[in-house]
Amino acid sequence: MTTIVWFRQDLRVADNPALFHASKRGPVLPVFILDETETPGLGGASKWWLHHSLQSLSSRFSDFVLLRGDPQSQLLSLIDKTGADAVFWNRCYEPHAVSRDKAIKAHLNEKGIDAQSCNANLLHEPWELKTGSGGPFKVYSPFWRVARSRPVEPPLAEPAISATPARDIGMALEELDLRPSNPDWAAGWQEIWQPGEYGALAGLESFLENGLSGYAGLRDRPDLKNVSRLSPHLHFGEISPRQIWAKANFLAAGQPELARDVEKFLSELCWREFAYHLLYHFPTIPDENWKRSFNAYAWRDSEAHLEAWQRGMTGYPIVDAGMRELWNTGYMHNRVRMIAASFLVKHLRIDWRLGAAWFWDTLVDADLANNASGWQWVAGSGADAAPYFRVFNPMLQGRKFDPEGSYIRRWCPEIARLGNDHIHAPFEASQRSLFEAGVKLGETYPKPLVDHQEARKAALAGYEAVKAFGDGR
Ligand code: FAD
Repeated sequence: MTTIVWFRQDLRVADNPALFHASKRGPVLPVFILDETETPGLGGASKWWLHHSLQSLSSRFSDFVLLRGDPQSQLLSLIDKTGADAVFWNRCYEPHAVSRDKAIKAHLNEKGIDAQSCNANLLHEPWELKTGSGGPFKVYSPFWRVARSRPVEPPLAEPAISATPARDIGMALEELDLRPSNPDWAAGWQEIWQPGEYGALAGLESFLENGLSGYAGLRDRPDLKNVSRLSPHLHFGEISPRQIWAKANFLAAGQPELARDVEKFLSELCWREFAYHLLYHFPTIPDENWKRSFNAYAWRDSEAHLEAWQRGMTGYPIVDAGMRELWNTGYMHNRVRMIAASFLVKHLRIDWRLGAAWFWDTLVDADLANNASGWQWVAGSGADAAPYFRVFNPMLQGRKFDPEGSYIRRWCPEIARLGNDHIHAPFEASQRSLFEAGVKLGETYPKPLVDHQEARKAALAGYEAVKAFGDGR
């Protein structure tokens, strides 16, 4: 009898438990359903990635069924058409997915269909790791200590698959309508990214070979190539954290000089686990302040400032470089995400949820757990967050993490000819330096949207209302 394997955020063949166990039962019918009931719906950059990832995955099977709509009714109709007697999938942890999958499992079981779910996307299930008192973690360090000390299952091999023919079922990839057109803002992204399992594995190999050495010290430098850029591959499940964990540990065992870098890399991977842990136990974090005291913050409402931030036109080069990297590539370096997000929340005092929504639409790695916890970390409203009163100085951050200004020069070419002393703060340059670099502030590059010191003071004044509520949950 046929087993339907319902692919979701696990778009790979290797270390895919649902596919692995289904193949042991007999013939397999792989399906992807574009869930039109999902909230939030996919952002534009994610859709682009998904298109290419599905193209890559479907080429691994003789028949791969693509559907769109409500997953429950789509699965039921597929069962009717094929006579399948089981549906296997790998678990997702977004609140919408958790309740959807629970309902589908119950419904299928009622109909006598064997519905099984597996863990493919995390090192440890969110309910497996507990504090000493048995509750969920709210602080990262103890979470990391426990996660690090627990054994991780080794990755599963690629299964031998016997396929169920399904030639006349489903739709063509183009009919899912995932790619942008009019305008095609992602033109050229295929030169930057290789979505799909092969791209993910190649990305891991390349990072382990060329970027890992020095990661612990250099991962904060957007001008260098010391981060893996695996986040979209991880989000879409083209590679599993178990595969990464196993390879990195294997490398550290053979090359002890890499041990510190590997440790740091694995701890970053576990920030992802922590974000999923938080999302699972506190499912409102994408929409609500984790610390309720932040409900008292009086966010500013400024379309003009929000738009200037989105377009990379704030007048603060490190912020603008990051926002333009995001728009042009669907990615932003982690340090710059922190700086750009902090600028929106603290310098402009715009609600973090508006920033999260923009990231959601523009990031190829847009991920509900990581995005929500990243934004709440920056805003100070999250679990184990950066304290609100620590306001990043964008000039100092730029000088520290892009010391030669090469990241800024790449994304803000209109100020590229400014010297290193002014590239992080063009508004502090003399008229002569600006003239020599061909910069006309307010014309070729914006004047700063707000004054740093004044903005800092206003942010701290706004924080008084939060403090008055106490800082806890
Ligand atoms: P590497 O440094 O190579 O790290 C390896 C992997 O570890 C990453 O691919 C990622 O899966 C995980 N990781 C690393 N840092 C973090 C972190 N701080 N939090 C959670 N996981 C981490 N990450 C997303 O995947 N999707 C998002 O939507 C997202 N939104 C963010 C929003 C804000 C405001 C901030 C501050 C961070 C956000 N992050 C998000 C986390 C982080 O910026 C990215 O995971 C990281 O930049 C991805 O680059 P990389 O793969 O080269 O990272």
